[in-house]
Parts: sequence; structure tokens; C-alpha cells
Amino acid sequence: METAALMIRNIRLSYQDGMIVDDFSLSLKPQELGCLLGPSGCGKSTLLRAIAGFQELNSGEIWLDNALLSTARHRVVPELRGVGMVFQDIALFPHLTVAQNIAFGLTDWTEESQAKRIAELLELIDLAGLNQRYPHELSGGQQQRVALARAMAPKPKLLLLDEPFSGLDTELRGRLASEVRTILKSDGICSLLVTHDQREAFDFADRIAVMHDGHICQFDTPFNLYHEPMSPFVAHFVGPGEMIDARVEGPRSVSSPLGVLTNDATLDFPVGSDVQIFLRPDDLIHDDDSSYQATLVGKHFRGAHHLYEVKLDNGVVLGCFAPSHHNHAIGERIGVSLDIEHLVVFPK
Ligand code: ADP
Ligand code: MG
Repeated sequence: METAALMIRNIRLSYQDGMIVDDFSLSLKPQELGCLLGPSGCGKSTLLRAIAGFQELNSGEIWLDNALLSTARHRVVPELRGVGMVFQDIALFPHLTVAQNIAFGLTDWTEESQAKRIAELLELIDLAGLNQRYPHELSGGQQQRVALARAMAPKPKLLLLDEPFSGLDTELRGRLASEVRTILKSDGICSLLVTHDQREAFDFADRIAVMHDGHICQFDTPFNLYHEPMSPFVAHFVGPGEMIDARVEGPRSVSSPLGVLTNDATLDFPVGSDVQIFLRPDDLIHDDDSSYQATLVGKHFRGAHHLYEVKLDNGVVLGCFAPSHHNHAIGERIGVSLDIEHLVVFPK
């Protein structure tokens, strides 16, 4: 069996008013960066609290590095679990300097090893030289990196991050998620991030558990979630796209309002079945030279590219990415062509 750092086995969690998480299982490999991605209220924070030891289990087990941390009858106290936590509200101690904040969990360490660890972490979070600053003298992003360093300082076996970037502006959020990924990878810390933001999850995680109503819909790499979603919920949750009716015509082909589309492999549906296909904006390419014309009905500027909404002559509206300099006006007829190798097909 593959070794796991974190192993959650068949746990159930509830509050007085009902079950939040029923029969939930998840494992992370050593040094793996995982993510729980799901809409607000689906039970992500409750799960993190259970892993940190603040939440009772109704049944099941939580293991970390082959030590049993929680069952329904037994719970190792939070401070002895080797689990660090970072929350959304940064909660640095305002009256302590950056260095003192980071040293907070290192009281058992010698002064020399504390100083070494602080210097190493400041280097890692790219704040070397700012050790004597107070939190109010730092930007939001810098404060969040200090909070991270403070949680990493005692070398936890597992670091839990509960929406740590959601108080920051969008641009900074995307950047910090990948920065934090790099920092954790270079320190080799296994970590679990909770977020409702797909981009943040993609920037951060090796594998993402997409959650809905207390259960995991799919636990997979960002690439597979995007290109091979196993359910319409996952397909929609991890990125834009449209569902279109189609019918299976042959072992690898479907007929659709866009014509006959061919898959790179045999489809899992019998010939003749009614299905839905899910098309992402990257399946449709804006091509000025294409004879296939569609009407531009919506337009979202995304910096390097536009996300266009184009209406085909049969009434189907699809998303389509176009390079930023292709700046067409709404209502204009533009050329499009399909670029599909792999079809995402669901039963109808
Ligand atoms: P998420 O982090 O995914 O937004 P939570 O785990 O915070 O979701 O909450 C899951 C569900 O549990 C929600 O319906 C929420 O209202 C409920 N809940 C959270 N905390 C408590 C609590 N202390 N007492 C009762 N219900 C709670
Ligand atoms: Mg939450």
C-alpha cells in the first residue's frame, strides 16, 4: 500500500442540527499539497477542525504519519498533533514584531535554533530584513506570509490552510497561492488548503477534492478535473463551459448542433443514446479565416485574452477564448472553429 501522510477514513461529523459530513475519506501523500474545493457551507472548515482536533468524530478515524489522532472515542489534543493552521483573518499579534510572531510556537527551542529557523523562514517567505517590523507596517500579502511562516516554524507534519487568501485582493490572491505552494514544496510540508476559489485551488494544489454537500465528487489533479470531470457539477465548478445535447452516432462519435464530433477514444455510451457534451471555451477557437461564422453576444476582458460568448446560427451559445488584440465588438460576426480532441460526455 502507498504510504500516506494524512489518512481520513470513513468519518462522520455532525452538529446538533444534523450531519455535515457522512462517510468521508481522503488521503494525502507525504509532502503532497491537497485542497478541498467546494461552495460555501459544504463542510470544508468542519473537516479542517476535525483534522486539527477541535471537532468530535461521530465515527471513522484520522491518521497522521501512522499515528491515530482521532476516533469517535479518542482525540489527541490539538497541540500534540503536529498540525499547524492558518486562517482567513490573519491574526498576527499586533504588539509583537515579525520575528517574535514567527517565534511564537518555538518556546521549547534554544535561542540559537530559534534564530536560525526565523532567518530561514524569512528568507523562504522573501521578507528577509523585515524581522523587526510590526504587523501594521506590512502589506496584507506580507502579513499573510508571516502568518504562514509562524504556522510552519515548529515544522508541523501537516499544515491546514482555511481560505487564507480570501481577505486579499484578486491579483494578490492568485500570486500568493502559487508563492505559498513554492514555499511549502521547498520545505517539504504536507498541506491541505480549503477554498471555494477554483483558480486558487489550481495555483496551489497537486490534487484537489471537489466537494458538494459534505462529500467528495472527485479527487484528482487540476488537469484531470478540468479536462476529464466525472460529473456535471465538477465540470461547471472548475471552469466555464456549456452543456449541449447530442446523440452517440458511432463508437467514438456524436452528432450535435455543431455537427459530428469525434472523440480520441471509444465512448462509454452505446450507439443511439442521448447524451450531453460539455464544451469549454478552449474547445472553440476564434479564427478570422474560418468560414464558420457566429455572432459575438458577450465579452469578458481577461487581460491576455478575451472570453467571448458567441451565438451559433442554430442558437447555441458557447464560450470562446480569443487573444486580447482580437478586439471585436458585440454584435459582430466572427469566424470560429472547433478544436476538440477529447469529448466530455454525460448521460442525459
Ligand atoms: P464551509 O467551510 O465549506 O463553508 P462549514 O464546515 O463551515 O462549511 O459548515 C458546514 C455546515 O455546518 C454549514 O451548513 C454550517 O452552517 C454548519 N455549521 C458550521 N459550524 C457550525 C456550528 N458550530 N454549529 C452548527 N452548525 C454549524
Ligand atoms: Mg469555511
